[in-house]
Amino acid sequence: MADCLFCRIVTGEIPATIVKRTEEAVAFRDIDARAPTHVLVIPTQHIPAVREATGPEREQLLGGLLAFAAQVASELGLDKGGYRIVTNTGPDAGQSVDHLHLHVLGGRRLTWPPG
Ligand code: AMP
Repeated sequence: MADCLFCRIVTGEIPATIVKRTEEAVAFRDIDARAPTHVLVIPTQHIPAVREATGPEREQLLGGLLAFAAQVASELGLDKGGYRIVTNTGPDAGQSVDHLHLHVLGGRRLTWPPG
């Protein structure tokens, strides 16, 4: 989508620190890191949020995205200490970019519940 920030990161039109990419997904550093490791994992296909990821094809995509995020976390050395994967959906959750993304956070003790 032409006016989507994360679609423009996928195409390289907007620079980002890419950690890993496949045809289906891209992982890049969050510009406003909230933990020593804070990476965003997005599908290359534009899907606004997890609530739109319905139907068998998108359910498969979601599974792949989660597995990809776990792989990225592992490659960034987070397996031992652990990490959190979270996706904000809609205004009450504070979603600020309408392109499905998983936050991968680690490298410090994370509090629960989130604010
Ligand atoms: P959310 O608030 O859950 O929608 O998350 C959006 C995330 O995108 C925030 O953590 C932002 O810091 C991050 N973000 C916004 N613009 C960029 C950018 N150009 N490069 C990397 N991360 C970004």
